[in-house]
Amino acid sequence: MASLAPTTDPSEDPTPAELLAGRHNLKHHAMDGLMLDGVPLARIADVVGTPTWVYSAETLRHRYRTLTAALKDAGLEAQPHYAVKANDHLAILATFAREGAGADVVSEGELRRALKAGIPASHIVYSGVGKSARELRLALHEDIGQINVESAEELAMLSAIAAGMGRIARIALRVNPDVEAGGHEKISTGRATDKFGIAFDAAAALYAHANTLPGIRTVGVATHIGSQILDLAPYRDAYLRIADLVRTIRAQGFRVETVDCGGGLGIPYRGEAAPSPAGLAGAIAGAFHNLDVRIALEPGRWLVGPAGVLLASVVLAKQTPTTRFVVLDAAMNDLVRPAMYDAWHGIVPVAATDAVAATSPCDVVGPVCESGDTFARSRALPALAPGALVALLDAGAYGAVMSSSYNARPRAAEVMVDGETWTVIRARQTHEDLWAHEVVPIP
Ligand SMILES: *Cc1c(COP(=O)(O)O)cnc(C)c1O
Repeated sequence: MASLAPTTDPSEDPTPAELLAGRHNLKHHAMDGLMLDGVPLARIADVVGTPTWVYSAETLRHRYRTLTAALKDAGLEAQPHYAVKANDHLAILATFAREGAGADVVSEGELRRALKAGIPASHIVYSGVGKSARELRLALHEDIGQINVESAEELAMLSAIAAGMGRIARIALRVNPDVEAGGHEKISTGRATDKFGIAFDAAAALYAHANTLPGIRTVGVATHIGSQILDLAPYRDAYLRIADLVRTIRAQGFRVETVDCGGGLGIPYRGEAAPSPAGLAGAIAGAFHNLDVRIALEPGRWLVGPAGVLLASVVLAKQTPTTRFVVLDAAMNDLVRPAMYDAWHGIVPVAATDAVAATSPCDVVGPVCESGDTFARSRALPALAPGALVALLDAGAYGAVMSSSYNARPRAAEVMVDGETWTVIRARQTHEDLWAHEVVPIP
C-alpha cells in the first residue's frame, strides 16, 4: 500500500497562499509569477526546461546561520556537520563550507565530494553501518576528524587497518539509545531493533575495550535517532540516556571529549508544528550543559529541504470517470519521496493567474509506468493547461540525490539561485549520457 497513496485528509491541506506565507524565499509576483528569491521560476524553465531542481543559496546560508545562532544562544560549543546524503551537490557543499560547516559522510563518494567542495578533512565525520575496508583506509589516509563506529566488529576491523597503516583513528561510538522517533518507519533509526549503532547496554564496555586497541583513540559518543522528527521528546530522552552513558564511561576512568547529537530535525512539509533549532539546542543543553563536552550535530533535511523546489511542467490534463489527473513531466524517478515514504509535498502553480484561479481536487502524477508514480491525491489545484508550470516545494533534501533514470529518463537539471542571479549547477543529462558506459557484446 505504501506505494499507492500519500494518505492524508485533503480538506486539511494548506492552500498555496498558506504554503507560501510560511516560506519567505518564495512569493508570487503579479507579472513574473512564482519567484524564488529574486528569480522568476518561469524564466529558469524557459532557458533550462523542466523538470529542474532549483535551490536558493540565500536560504541555505540563512538556515545554517539560524542553526548556529541557536546553538550559541543555548551556550553550546557546537559544530554542525552537514549530512551530505540529503543533497550532495558540490555547490551545496561549497555553500556550507564557506559558512564553516563540517560534513557527515556515509560513503567514499560523499567523503570525496566533501573534500572536493573544500570542507577540511578535520571537519569530516564518517558515519554508516557498513563502511568497507577500502573506505576506512581512505578515511584514515585523509586523516578525517572522526569515524563513528557502529559495531564491535567494525571497531576490530578499523583497529587492524589503522594499526597496519600506522595511523590513529579518532572514533566515537554510535550508540543506539532505543527510542522511538522519526516521521516514518523507513527513517526511524534509534530503536533497539534497528540496524544502526551499538546497543546502549553494551556501549560502556565497548568504549573501555576500544581503549585497549592499537590504532584507536576514543574521543566520544554519537547518536542519531531518525529523520523528519517533529517532536523534541525523543531527542530529550535520547540525550539524557547518552549523558548518563558519558558519566558511566568517565566513572570507568576514560575521557569523553565530544558528543555527536546526530540529525533528524523535521520540517513542516504540510504545515505541521515543527520544532525549531532553538528547541533542539535546548534539548542538547538540557542534557549536556554541565558535562564539559564539545557538541557536534549532523543536520541534513532541516538545512536543505526548504531551500529547493522541483520545477515541473504539465504534460496534459486527463479526466477519467472518477478522477481528474494532472500529468507532470517530473516523476517518481526524480522525486521518489511520495512513492517511498508517503511524503506530502506542497504543489504551487507558477503563473500568478493560476495561483488565484478556482480549484478542484485532482491527482498529480508523473508519466512513469507505476501507480506509485503519484505526487498527490485529491489535491486542490486550478485547471492547469499543458505547459503550465508548477513547483513542488521543500524538494531540496532527499530529492535529486535519490533520483534515478528509471524509464530511461535523463536526470533533471539543477539550478542555484543567489539573489537575482542564477546558475545551472548541473546540466540536464542527455540520452547519450545514459548509455555512455553500456556495451553490447558482439555476437
Ligand atoms: C541521515 C543521517 C543524518 C541526517 O538526517 P536528517 O534527517 O537529514 O537531518 C545524520 N546522521 C546520520 C548518521 C544519518 O544517517
